[in-house]
Amino acid sequence: MDTAATLDAVAEELAEARRVLFITGAGISADSGLPTYRGVGGLYEEDLTAEGFSIEEALSGPMLHQHPQITWKYLAQIERTCRDARPNRAHQVIADLERRGTAVTVFTQNIDGLHRQAGSSDVIEIHGRLHHLHCTRCSYEVEVDSFSDLELPPACPRCNALVRPRVVLFGESLPQMEMEQLLRTLDAGPDMVFSIGTSSLFPYVAEPVLWASEQGITTVEINPGTTPVSPFADHHITQGAAATLEALWQRLR
Ligand SMILES: [Zn+2]
Repeated sequence: MDTAATLDAVAEELAEARRVLFITGAGISADSGLPTYRGVGGLYEEDLTAEGFSIEEALSGPMLHQHPQITWKYLAQIERTCRDARPNRAHQVIADLERRGTAVTVFTQNIDGLHRQAGSSDVIEIHGRLHHLHCTRCSYEVEVDSFSDLELPPACPRCNALVRPRVVLFGESLPQMEMEQLLRTLDAGPDMVFSIGTSSLFPYVAEPVLWASEQGITTVEINPGTTPVSPFADHHITQGAAATLEALWQRLR
């Protein structure tokens, strides 16, 4: 099937779908100019950071506890690159679909908050959100627009302990509540499952697609490359996320 015919077929099913799960990764935010953790690692000429650690070590849970100033330095660099990013057509179409009346759940690996910014209301942020800060000791938490006014590493205004973003660093476990939310979404029985802009290397990102495929639920992958879930997807559209979602939206109208 050529791309236009695939888009026609996917749009036809999407128009009738009551519940849709979108699984998204860095590729969906690439059209907003955003790097990933590893992409930010790629900003460095050398394999190691100035401190002699890999970027994965610098952005790890153990490093945050031992040398918070190092982890915060790189968190702040990531934050600077994505501070002014805005949702692109892919985020917007997913939010528009919800406004159109479809029960949409987004399960994202991205920490940029762009799905919420676009207006999606049911968003499971499995790796957390960069601008959501919380104290490592007490219950203090705050949502910020920028890290530019923070003194790094930031201290809690209530108890003076270390404040950190609510993101999953390397070596940390996934948030239980978000995993349970995903299971509830799968239990509800989506009519379609989309995998967009993710390399699907993590099992918790690939498994919902494999599960849907076994259940006979329509699966759609939007990714210029081939991934571990590609052989299981009913439809694989090898184009960028923003262009593909816009093309689907045009067919829905
Ligand atoms: Zn505190």
